[in-house]
This record gives sequence, C-alpha cells and structure tokens, in this order.
Amino acid sequence: MTLEAETKAVVAQFDYTNEDVNKAVKEFIRQMGEGLEKEGTSLSQIPTYVTGVPKGTEKGLYMAVDLGGTNFRVCSINLNGDTTFNLTFSKVAIPRELMVAKSAKELFAFLAKQIELFLKEHHGDQFEKHVRRRMTVTSPEGFKDEEVFRLGFTFSFPVQQIGINKGKLIRWTKGFDIPDAVGKDVCALLQQEIDILHLPVKVAALVNDTVGTLMARSYTSPGKTGTVLGAIFGTGTNGAYVEKLANIKKPVTGEFDKSTGLMVVNTEWGSFDNQLNVLPNTKWDIELDKETPNPGIQMYEKRVSGMFLGEIVRLVIVDLLKKPEVSLFKDENSSTNDWKSTTSIAPNSGVFTQWGLDTSVMSVAAADTTPELVALRQALEEQLHIYSPSLDDAQTFKAIAAAVGRRAARLSAVAIAAIVLQSGTLTDPAYDGEEIDIGVDGSLVEHYPYFRDMIYEALGQIEGIGAEGAKRIRIGIAKDGSGVGAALIALVAADMEKRTSG
Ligand code: BGC
Ligand code: MG
Repeated sequence: MTLEAETKAVVAQFDYTNEDVNKAVKEFIRQMGEGLEKEGTSLSQIPTYVTGVPKGTEKGLYMAVDLGGTNFRVCSINLNGDTTFNLTFSKVAIPRELMVAKSAKELFAFLAKQIELFLKEHHGDQFEKHVRRRMTVTSPEGFKDEEVFRLGFTFSFPVQQIGINKGKLIRWTKGFDIPDAVGKDVCALLQQEIDILHLPVKVAALVNDTVGTLMARSYTSPGKTGTVLGAIFGTGTNGAYVEKLANIKKPVTGEFDKSTGLMVVNTEWGSFDNQLNVLPNTKWDIELDKETPNPGIQMYEKRVSGMFLGEIVRLVIVDLLKKPEVSLFKDENSSTNDWKSTTSIAPNSGVFTQWGLDTSVMSVAAADTTPELVALRQALEEQLHIYSPSLDDAQTFKAIAAAVGRRAARLSAVAIAAIVLQSGTLTDPAYDGEEIDIGVDGSLVEHYPYFRDMIYEALGQIEGIGAEGAKRIRIGIAKDGSGVGAALIALVAADMEKRTSG
C-alpha cells in the first residue's frame, strides 16, 4: 500500500461514529447507576462527603498540596470572600523513582519536606515559631488552633473515602506504583511525615482534583444554579458531579451534613467500561494496555488522557516504520534490513521508547495548518530527532495524531453528556434558560488545539442534548482549580469540626 492509503486505513480505525457515541452515553449512564448501588463496580462513584458547592463568599487563609501526575504543588490560598483569591505556590517535578518507590514513606516524606520548604520561603513567621518550639500538631502540647494551617490534600487517585479527611487508596494510576500504600489512609501517611518535621499543618481535607475543580469553578463563577461537573482532561482523566443523596443507594457511613440533600460524587470515570462493552479497541490500544503496570484497568483513561495519547500515536508510527513497503521517515541511503536503521530517526529518539512521544508534539501537529507544515516538521526534528522529515511524513504524522486526538475528544463528550443527562438539568425548570456550567482543567483541554470544539461537535450529536442543548452547556477552564478547591474543602472541614466539637 502507498503511504497515503496506509494512513487512511489507520485513521479509519480511530473513527468513533455518532452511533458509537450515543451507545456509549447510554452505557455510561447505566454504569453510573450501578456504581451508586454497590461497591466494586467499574465506575466507582465514590461519595466524597462534600455536600454542597461554594457560593463565592467563603473567606480565610488555607494551605493546599496537590499530588496527582507530573508535579507536586504546594500552595497557600487566601479566599477573599468575593469570588476572588490570592494564591502563592511552588511546584516540583516528582522524581520518577518516587512514583515507583519501595515504600510509601519515601514518597510522603518527600512531600512533607516540600511543605517545609514552602513554609520557610513564604510563611517565615509560622515557620520560625515551629523551629523554636518543635511541637507537633497532634501532640497534647501541640500548637494552638489559630497557629495551625488547615491543609487540603488533593490526591488524584482513586480513594475509598471514609470521611472528609480520611480515605484509603484503592489503586494507583498514571504510572504510579507503590504497592505498600494501597489500602492505607493517605491523609494519615502525610500527617505522620508532617509531624516528624513538627510543621504547624493539619491535613484537614482529602480531595480528588476533580472535586477541587468543581468547587473552584463554583467559587469563582457562581451562577444561579451552581456548577454541575468538575472534570480533568490532563495526564489522567476523571469527573466529579453533584448527585442527589437519595440516588446514592450504597451505604455512606460517617459524619456529614445531610441538610443539603446533595453529595459530590467522584465517578473515577477513568475506569469506565473496563469490560469494553462500548469502548473502541484497536490493536494499538491492546498493545499499550499490556505495557502498563495496570492492564485491564483505567481503559477509558487509556483512550482519552494525555499520558496515553502520545503513546498510542507512537505505537502506530512504529508499526508503520516496520513495514518495508511503507515509506514513512525513511533513510534513502540505508542498506540494512534492521527496521530501525532504515529510518531517518536518531537511535535515542523517543519514537523508540515507551512514553517517548509527548502529547505536546500532537498539539503542535493540530495547531499547524500551514501547507508546508513548517512548525510540525521542526518539532519532529527537535523533539523527536527525526532528520529532515518530508511533507508527506509530516502529513502522515498529523493525520494519525489528529485521529487519536479526535477519538479522545469524542470519548470525552460521552462522559460529559452522560453526567449532564443524569443531572436532569437540561429539562429542569429551575435551570430554564440557564447555562449548564462545567469546570475543566488539565493539559489536554488547556493546550490541545480544538479539543473543546471537538467535544462540542460530538455533544451536538447526542440524543437528549442536540445542537440546542450543546449551546447551553458551558465548558470553562477552572484555573488553579485543585488548589483553590482543596482550600475550600479544608474550610468546610474546619467548620464541621467546630460544629461537632462544640
Ligand atoms: C485518577 C483520578 C484523577 C484523574 C485526573 C486518574 O488517573 O484515577 O482520581 O482524578 O486521574 O487526575
Ligand atoms: Mg493535576
């Protein structure tokens, strides 16, 4: 086959038709219902103990840390009470070896150390006090209440929550793999390491990043009706939404405020349809899954989120490179039979290693609409060490990347549509004429060109939504969502503590 025909054949395998999308939405709603009824389902539907969304009037100084993907962020947030906030933060890349550390202690000690460094740099007063007094938050001679920072811990992995600041890790995702942390209370793990350093910090709330995003979006753009869904399309993907308490049929134990009749549910949709009833499954999806630490799990995430899209594209490219008759990235002067040496790609190129193709190259491909694809060819050369890619080469790369990206966006629309339909807001008279607000964050929605446009295009094709419905759905970025959101939940937790202790 010619390169063009071969490319067409590959691209066709990533088609996800309107019919596929509609079928998947129905299945998503069914799996949501199943998750609300019992434990151990594909969509976990985790009750978060957060029983309402903010109004924008919340006030106070809080800390937040965020562990969830590539970076660890520490921040302090001043909620000004008028929908605005001030945020100070520091950010470090998480060393790869800590993501797969032998013991949880190694990772959590590193996190506590970063909190210490942050306090030293940005909150010197409190830090000095602690150095002088060497007290711990939990010891009887500990800090006075007003000296302690309440910290919201954004921990973006599936956690079985048992209270607002307690939850056991169910499983790692996104390449993390520290077996001895599974089943443990991650707040306790962090508090232990904080106490060893005698920091005036109390882990007050455990927050999934999607819940943080939902809260942050509600705080900063409170509409008449509140935000319906918070979602992440970044390294991983997931969503949290506001559910009626009455719909949560499985037991929710422990203390929480029942007066609102609502609870935020963390869907953990990354594991939607692990059984592959409706998800597409090309040979490259199968190959990718096999190479991960968690085969058979997070099957939706592995087709949607940033960590995986580049890897799918890479696997397709490698397949094409192995075909002698397909002329992609070929070295015309090569005289060997080894497939790698027949290419014009440097041996150390990311093309030849797992996770070696970053989603950012896909973004360049999508953004470059010039006839000669100058920017893309430059990126292929600089980022992937492919020598002098031809226009044909670049067009092929662009077409494959676009097919993978488009399928991801259409799959993203499935989750969004299912939750909007489940919320009933499109037909609820209380929402008459109102926008249905959705807060999103993550590298994919933020940096991948046309991702949101492709989501909207698919939403318009979904039964029960249609073009009119799609127009009412407002998908807005919740910048710094997880930090602000965690602070807001730490605030709610502190209020709850006050109420129950006196
Ligand atoms: C995790 C979720 C998280 C999402 C986005 C997934 O891998 O399971 O808890 O919300 O990534 O960070
Ligand atoms: Mg994140």
